[in-house]
Amino acid sequence: MYSAKMQIQYKEPENNTHLSPLIDRFGRQVDYIRLSITDRCDFRCVYCMAEDMTFLPRHEVLSLEECARLVRVFVALGVSKVRITGGEPLVRKNALWLFQEIGQLTGLKELVMTTNGSQLEQYAQALRDAGVKRINISLDSLNAERFRKITRVGELDKVLRGIAAAKAVGFDNIKLNTVLMRGTNDDEALPLLNFAIEQDIDISYIEEMPLGAVDHTRDSTYISNAATLKSLQSHYPLVSSAESSAENRTGPAEYWRVTGTQTRVGFISPHSHNFCESCNRVRITCKGELFLCLGQDDKVDLMPLLREFPDDDTPLINAIIASMQIKPQGHDFDLKRAEPAVIRFMSHTGG
Ligand code: SAM
Ligand code: SF4
Repeated sequence: MYSAKMQIQYKEPENNTHLSPLIDRFGRQVDYIRLSITDRCDFRCVYCMAEDMTFLPRHEVLSLEECARLVRVFVALGVSKVRITGGEPLVRKNALWLFQEIGQLTGLKELVMTTNGSQLEQYAQALRDAGVKRINISLDSLNAERFRKITRVGELDKVLRGIAAAKAVGFDNIKLNTVLMRGTNDDEALPLLNFAIEQDIDISYIEEMPLGAVDHTRDSTYISNAATLKSLQSHYPLVSSAESSAENRTGPAEYWRVTGTQTRVGFISPHSHNFCESCNRVRITCKGELFLCLGQDDKVDLMPLLREFPDDDTPLINAIIASMQIKPQGHDFDLKRAEPAVIRFMSHTGG
């Protein structure tokens, strides 16, 4: 068993990969966590949330100090990349404090975040100063009216100003995340890529996943990334990027470079291409649930351990290490099923 003392030995940033105890039954090393710091959001995207959402009461949500402690423990166990997500992370009061705390952890190589961009105009500089290296900004339409329809309440202009602010402060990388839905915004794959090229940033297209019950069936809006790639290839020469090759792959995305530009195009295709075999990540919800797979229900509740043992990380460390034994081999999303594969919304698990 690992003791709190032993965690010190995992604080070596350069040599810790082979020592990391976070290896699952399939030999996959977990070195990446996604932490959702709130289930709340200022948008209500149609693929992510129901129109009427009930959010968690405050006491059921990890405090920012608890979030910081969790990240510190994971980093001590060999995690080198942390993504802060939500809900919308920037609607959480004092979220910046957490970024500043995490940004100082030795052993952490990459602090990154996913945001809807609505608050970026205000926070971009402070996030950069806190050590956030890369940022993913969700953008599903460049048409203000359609943008509002998809987000139900969002203002496109605010997000575009957020993207401009992010560019101005010089993140190492900015990537747009786009969920295409047949009949809603599938005609915007090309305009959004054109926008990414103009802005010198990257873009990823994400196939909609059956997470949480929303107002439409995911089958009715499904558009495969293979079809999107094909349509983009008729406008741009796309060259398969080294990041996609089997030996480099640690995530679900396949990347292509747009010849003659700085832009990379990613495809996250849980339905048409399943890359679970190289999964290197786990997710922690704002309630402290450690989900071992986005598309399965296997989890460990870390909040009781955080609250029962405020001064002793040992139970937490042991639970995290033991959780590797229940990391599933992969998701089994099936769009033909009437019910969503997983009842919880993406905003709960953290995208
Ligand atoms: N609010 C932030 C945002 O929108 O970027 C962060 C959280 S959001 C849950 C993270 C990512 O998940 C977003 O890029 C969003 O488009 C994506 N997402 C949400 N629900 C999804 C679903 N059902 N299928 C695929 N992607 C989804
Ligand atoms: Fe909010 Fe992000 Fe979900 Fe949209 S995708 S509702 S912005 S959490």
